[in-house]
Amino acid sequence: MSHIRNRLVLGLTLAVLGGCTPKEMLPPTTMSTPSQSPRPDTNLVAKTDAEWRKLLTPEQYHVLREAGTERAHGKAYAEFKAQGAGTYVCGGCGAELFSSDHKFDSHCGWPSFYDPANAKNVRTREDRSFGGVRVEVLCAQCGGHLGHVFKGEGFKTPTDQRYCINGVALKFVPKAAAALPTP
Ligand code: FE
Repeated sequence: MSHIRNRLVLGLTLAVLGGCTPKEMLPPTTMSTPSQSPRPDTNLVAKTDAEWRKLLTPEQYHVLREAGTERAHGKAYAEFKAQGAGTYVCGGCGAELFSSDHKFDSHCGWPSFYDPANAKNVRTREDRSFGGVRVEVLCAQCGGHLGHVFKGEGFKTPTDQRYCINGVALKFVPKAAAALPTP
């Protein structure tokens, strides 16, 4: 029964997102699936579950450690859109992941990038949950779930990719203000 319920939830989620442009887009992930998706075993940052719970907010824990999804068009997304130049690091371990240079407005309700700033800190893997095939995006340093990456959606970006990332999984580090010239 839970399988049928999950499919129903996915269907409703996709129906809500039907208005996204330029093509139908999927959310970073659909719902918490802690039991089906253990975190990668290649973590360089190894912490116990109790340590992660202490370090992260409940919403960050849900996204990063349970492959959850934040609400579309939420507080983190509003903050993301307002942020200027800077670097986006992992909300769990601080690894450099994305740059403001590569963000773009996909109108999907989650932060979108067309490329990672530091590819060695970003890894992907196939995600076959909910009857589909998607590509999950993870932090290579701590194994935290970040979102998913989609290709071929028709955005006018250099890579034809949309890294659809949960805002709470990221921490923004503003670019240091240029030193003022001395008089
Ligand atoms: Fe990390």
